[in-house]
Amino acid sequence: MSALIEQAVSLLKQAKETHGDGLVYPCSMGLEGSVMVDLINKNSLDIPIMTLDTGRLPQATYDVISAFEARYGIRVQVLFPDCHEVEAMVREHGVNLFRTSVELRKSCCEIRKIRPLMRALEGKEAWITGRRRQQSKGRSDLQFIETDPVYGLKKYNPLLEWSLDDVSEYVRANAVPYNRLHDAHYHSIGCECCTRAISMGEDERAGRWWWENDDGAAECGLHVMSLKEVTGDIEDGEGI
Ligand code: SF4
Repeated sequence: MSALIEQAVSLLKQAKETHGDGLVYPCSMGLEGSVMVDLINKNSLDIPIMTLDTGRLPQATYDVISAFEARYGIRVQVLFPDCHEVEAMVREHGVNLFRTSVELRKSCCEIRKIRPLMRALEGKEAWITGRRRQQSKGRSDLQFIETDPVYGLKKYNPLLEWSLDDVSEYVRANAVPYNRLHDAHYHSIGCECCTRAISMGEDERAGRWWWENDDGAAECGLHVMSLKEVTGDIEDGEGI
């Protein structure tokens, strides 16, 4: 465990030294987020922590944001979607459009998550993610540092080699605030309507968009696409 912590802190420091104010951490407020927020603050790394409020989050996620702010004396930067875009989308397709088709689900993720994140990343050089190789088949080839193929924005993955047990142990051992939905067998936590608990043996991300076919498309687009695709004509899609 101590080697994993050293590895993660070392990568965070490298990212901060390399990119300075051009570095941000968009946090999903899941278990990995708890580890990262603790590592950033415990090591006084001064990396801004932001999160997306899609308007469909569970109360447990707001509670963990508040708990982080109280514990570390920080203010999490909360990003919201453009209200006119959300209103137009809901007017045309209804409040539960994400159940209608994969395309509408991806449109919802684009408007509520991807566009606000892209706004927040404007002018930045790099971002931190909480992704781990073990989270899903689609994440097995991740590297510690990746580069967007079009714009060159760097992505740092400090928890790359952590297992779910490592993450849980760190949170428990350091009494870090965490999203209480994890106690109810939620692993990947996003919008309340698109997240469910998973059973033993299921892929960690099986709790997201479970009504869709598992063809590897269970990503919201923030991590599977180049920025050009995300900001332009989006055809694939998810979140943090
Ligand atoms: S996770 Fe669901 S509700 Fe949230 S932005 Fe994506 S489709 Fe919309």
